[in-house]
Amino acid sequence: MVFPSLTPLSSVARIGVRSSAFQSRRFLAQAVSATPKSQDQTKASSYKVVVVGGGSAGISVASTLAETLGDKAVAVIEPSDVHYYQPLWTFVGAGLKTFDESKMPMSEVIPEKAQWIKDSVASFSPNQNTVVLANGESISYDYLVVAAGIQVNWGKIKNLPQTLGKNGVTSNYSSDSVEKTDEFIKAFKGGNALFTMPSTPIKCAGAPQKIMYLAEEQWRKAGIRSQTDIKYFTGLGKIFAIDKYANELLKVCKSRNLNVNYFTDLAEIKPESREAVFNVLGGEAKGTQLTLPYDFLHVTPPMGAPDFIKGSPLANGDGWVDIDKETLRHNKFSNVYALGDCSSLPTSKTAAAITAQSAVLKNNLLGDIFGDKQVAKYDEYTSCPLITGSETLILAEFSGYSGQPQETFPFDQSKERYSTYLLTKEIIPEIYWKYMMKGNWDGPAKFRKWFGTA
Ligand SMILES: Cc1cc2nc3c(=O)[nH]c(=O)nc-3n(C[C@H](O)[C@H](O)[C@H](O)COP(=O)(O)OP(=O)(O)OC[C@H]3O[C@@H](n4cnc5c(N)ncnc54)[C@H](O)[C@@H]3O)c2cc1C
Repeated sequence: MVFPSLTPLSSVARIGVRSSAFQSRRFLAQAVSATPKSQDQTKASSYKVVVVGGGSAGISVASTLAETLGDKAVAVIEPSDVHYYQPLWTFVGAGLKTFDESKMPMSEVIPEKAQWIKDSVASFSPNQNTVVLANGESISYDYLVVAAGIQVNWGKIKNLPQTLGKNGVTSNYSSDSVEKTDEFIKAFKGGNALFTMPSTPIKCAGAPQKIMYLAEEQWRKAGIRSQTDIKYFTGLGKIFAIDKYANELLKVCKSRNLNVNYFTDLAEIKPESREAVFNVLGGEAKGTQLTLPYDFLHVTPPMGAPDFIKGSPLANGDGWVDIDKETLRHNKFSNVYALGDCSSLPTSKTAAAITAQSAVLKNNLLGDIFGDKQVAKYDEYTSCPLITGSETLILAEFSGYSGQPQETFPFDQSKERYSTYLLTKEIIPEIYWKYMMKGNWDGPAKFRKWFGTA
């Protein structure tokens, strides 16, 4: 498969900004003098653009900005030594990819021309155009991009932190336990297998059930399916937000005897008795608790806005960075942008959504710097590749705002397919490392035009 026009200009061309104008920014950048350059490896205390977070969103934006604005005009504040391609963790948890394939040293993904500040942001002072680091140092900026991801609240489930990775309790949502999922699936000898999904927003709302399908397939092939009871518990009222895909997923569950339970939120693990306690959030038993024995328990913990954002002037009432849902510009501070999982964008939190968001953000922020008037708007795109087996996948692509499908291919993507499985397992990771991390991938919108599916 050939992906055309994967150049640094592609993202901007799609959203209607003249590419010649964008090219000329590289030369204009020499003349943008506001930012003092750091001396070699020494960091400065002021940058043209500061990007908070070196995850999928931060790097996809910082790459283009650093390339366009020149040496050390852009700083990326990121505490971690390792960058993870987390969408691969479903495959890792099922033993279909290695953990190593999901990671890259942070030093290799931070753009060469950007300054990596290896620390965490502790607080924001947007009226002073500064962020304060955990070490107490202040860094100032002309423009700020917040891309700090979602916070996984392990401690909100009683006994989860001390139980994780032991005696059949695991989660694909941590770099520490994702390999345990594979180990425990292979070691399982039958019994009660529980899979949970919380009632809070989470990253990749499909991942809690994808690992169930992959585990069920392995236990079936191992000949222990008849002595295995598999239950899925979601704190929500549907198996998936978009009906077109939810209907197909329910058929998969029915045909494979997977028991789906709604409005049930995992609250506690009792490791001694190997029991899981759920709060019942709806129906006749609302307000009660349900306690079930487990032999295998895959937990998707509650998640929410990062604490350091929640308590800041950048946050909306729910703690997310409060941005305009079309332009990604902050609703109060016009030189602040955000994207990805920490943003208030009312869409599914996925790396796929970031592909479209990053192009919009880069266009609008560079437009601010260079005086371009053409404002780009987020097309609401998000996607969730729902892996249903080691050779099958339902490729959900939709508007996170309207809930309407936004499919790329000229076939019904709600059907399980091998082609979309291969795309997700082999091709998209390549696109991620080689193009998205270099700022050169803005999602499949152009393919929708080609295929006439737009
Ligand atoms: C099991 C699993 C399966 C998934 N499957 C898919 C899938 O199939 N398709 C898909 O599109 N998406 C999937 N996702 C979701 C996807 O990985 C995320 O939506 C995406 O990584 C979000 O990017 P982000 O940059 O917003 O956050 P992240 O990639 O999480 O990056 C946030 C970064 O911010 C840094 N940070 C945090 N706090 C601070 C601070 N105070 N100061 C500075 N830096 C900070 C962190 O260290 C991190 O590097 C999956 C995720 C998981 C866990």
